[in-house]
Amino acid sequence: DAPSWEVYNQLMLWADRYRRLQIRANADQPDQAAVALTFGAEGIGLCRTEHMFFGGERIQAMREMILADDLEERNTAISKLLPYQREDFYGLFKTMGSHPVTIRLLDPPLHEFLPHSDEEIMRLAIGMGKPYEHVKERIAALHEFNPMLGLRGCRLGILHPEITIMQVQAIMEAACQLRQEGLEVVPEIMVPLVSTLKELEITAEIIHKTARSVIAEQWIGVKYLVGTMIEVPRAAITSAEIATAADFFSYGTNDLTQMTLGMSRDDSGQFLPTYQQHDIFPRNPFESIDIDGVGRLITLSASEGRSVKPDLKLGICGEHGGDPASVEFCHKTGLNYVSCSPYRVPVARLAAARAALLG
Ligand code: PEP
Ligand code: MG
Repeated sequence: DAPSWEVYNQLMLWADRYRRLQIRANADQPDQAAVALTFGAEGIGLCRTEHMFFGGERIQAMREMILADDLEERNTAISKLLPYQREDFYGLFKTMGSHPVTIRLLDPPLHEFLPHSDEEIMRLAIGMGKPYEHVKERIAALHEFNPMLGLRGCRLGILHPEITIMQVQAIMEAACQLRQEGLEVVPEIMVPLVSTLKELEITAEIIHKTARSVIAEQWIGVKYLVGTMIEVPRAAITSAEIATAADFFSYGTNDLTQMTLGMSRDDSGQFLPTYQQHDIFPRNPFESIDIDGVGRLITLSASEGRSVKPDLKLGICGEHGGDPASVEFCHKTGLNYVSCSPYRVPVARLAAARAALLG
């Protein structure tokens, strides 16, 4: 009897021979990236940088940044975050070696970072050296009724460019350090929640300016790409314009599904099972791409984007990237890669091979 590991390897090698889609993984930490590599991931398609700020001192600095009263205070908090981020990106790039890594700029629903209990607020106030009442008022002032449609994604960086500058500086300094150590890394810097060309242009300008200044300061030539998530219907529809400022698109099908269908990604459990029974959606659209809605938007966006840039790199990084039917759709639409959770990489490899053989 052949050990099952050998059978698995054989099957995967066979799949890799036939598939055309590249398979990447969504990972934010070096250990997740290492798991992804073990499963055969060929890069990271999405590093959600907001996940990097939940631990110990980082969350404190993050909260200080969000609740800062002025630019000086915000910059002080940001300067505490810079070394952490540099270390984060260094670890991720080093683990992935020469494989591509897409780093998404901060995309936080703000409420996830704010303290809620009185005790937590008190501790934060003491840490910030501010009166409890003042901190509580600042938190109340940031309250959003619908945070998923609020101060998120590129909006945050447009309001507070210093956050984008810090992240890009950390990315580029990590890449420069690895270049000195002999590893060539080409960071793919990705802008979240873009809906208009102007939003991307403003953010891209901050990215380029910061990247150039790190390169000049360090005297090390590091290449990088700037791309955007396509996860808002307006961005999908205006992809020909948006492509003029992007090296790549990555379809964020979680938000794209939410916004195209007008269904909350967090609160649809009440009615979706009944919807499936009625065949309104044969499958849960948050698990498998809604081909006639979200699918058509992606097809339109891909062809519009490539009409401007024939070599525009296209990928998908929503949960759908590990769903076989969605992988088949991505193959047919001519995407370059799918990115899914590390544990779904083997399924994605098989699905990509199946799509290529049937197509
Ligand atoms: C998405 O919206 O599909 C996506 C990948 O981003 P997030 O899930 O982090 O919003
Ligand atoms: Mg999203």
